[in-house]
Amino acid sequence: MSQREGVGPRSRALNEISAGLFPGGVSSPVRAFGGVGGKPPVIRRAQGALLFDVDGREYVDLVGAWGPMILGHGHPAVERAVVARVRRGIMTGTPSPDEPRLARLITRLMPAVERMRFVVSGTEACMSALRLARAATGRTKLIKFAGCYHGHADAFLASAGSGALTFGTPDSPGVPPEVVAATLVAPYNDLGAVEALLAAHPGEVAAVFVEPIAGNMGFVPPEPGFLAGLRSACTRHGALLVFDEVMTGFRVHLGGAQALYGITPDLTTFGKIIGGGLPVGAYGGRADLMARVAPEGPVYQAGTLAGNPVAMTAGHRTLRVLARPGVFERIAACTSELAAGLAADGRDAGVPIVATSIGAMLGLWFAAAAPTNLVEAQATDLARFRRYHGAMLARGVHLPPSPFEAWFVSLAHDAPIIERIRSAHREALRAS
Ligand SMILES: *Cc1c(COP(=O)(O)O)cnc(C)c1O
Repeated sequence: MSQREGVGPRSRALNEISAGLFPGGVSSPVRAFGGVGGKPPVIRRAQGALLFDVDGREYVDLVGAWGPMILGHGHPAVERAVVARVRRGIMTGTPSPDEPRLARLITRLMPAVERMRFVVSGTEACMSALRLARAATGRTKLIKFAGCYHGHADAFLASAGSGALTFGTPDSPGVPPEVVAATLVAPYNDLGAVEALLAAHPGEVAAVFVEPIAGNMGFVPPEPGFLAGLRSACTRHGALLVFDEVMTGFRVHLGGAQALYGITPDLTTFGKIIGGGLPVGAYGGRADLMARVAPEGPVYQAGTLAGNPVAMTAGHRTLRVLARPGVFERIAACTSELAAGLAADGRDAGVPIVATSIGAMLGLWFAAAAPTNLVEAQATDLARFRRYHGAMLARGVHLPPSPFEAWFVSLAHDAPIIERIRSAHREALRAS
């Protein structure tokens, strides 16, 4: 594998054109490599576990489009189904057979989701679930966790700052302080903080939103009892428990994190894998709650492109392949083998690394111990990650360009691909 620092001339030229057209040169901020420095390679083709950039360079992909591509790029069954569906019309804005086909599969894999509504992104799913939770409880406040991401709707753009038990302050200009004043923020894995917030605001909290395995502050699993504690606290205080499974849904277990931990949330939000790489989100849960959504109920929520049949088809075929006997287990085994290998290489190199996985989701930290919340995640060796990221990219491995992102393994990551990652990793540890 050749080693090159920086992207090739064609990527550089396209990045410059895009910088004039788009803020940061990108369509979504983290793609700009702000978290690691340098510029992103411009990718023109993807196949299996590999990406190919406009300069003809090849990368092993551990981003997987930020989650959806759990079967790898261009899985033949998905590709065939999508092309066939495109030939029958891309979008009609009518009911189609594709929506119930995907929804029935999701509700079968995840029984707590009795009924659902398709939207177009994870952001929209969380925003709509919050509206529904507020309507159903007649309450306004929500509790979220520092470091958990629920899309970019105003109400979720709040973090705790230094004090955990304070009102949220906006993370972004343009978010009215009065909107995030209704957002209460607790540290992840801190059940006591949640109990304190619920007690301090009796009868006011509509919902607790949580990533049941956090993947947007790096990979941070829940500690034993945390999710069960949230479930019982919500029930006691009349708040709804919302699992944001946009990332974890069908990634950590075929039944999502809720099956893995045996917790029944009131509502669940989806995105990523259920669209197979096309734009999809969904929210669903208890039938009595979903009956409040328009046009059956008064809670308004709509979408011109919602339930897009091509996206439904990509998601359905992805989930169908994933649910074949042994497929999920194979990806999960490969992921845990990779995590163990990365950790072992770290020990051999004398570099403190924590590399762990759940299902097909993996996290790597330059730290002696795994962080359990955002503050601990921020205390890991972030500068080392930045150097490591550049060294891996130069050796043909495309990692998420931030220490605060999980890594995604796919069905296309076979033993030779895993060995390519590990050999780049061993070199990058020495070089960075
Ligand atoms: C990606 C993500 C979202 C947002 O989904 P978009 O489709 O990017 O709007 C929400 N919640 C979680 C947990 C996510 O990982």
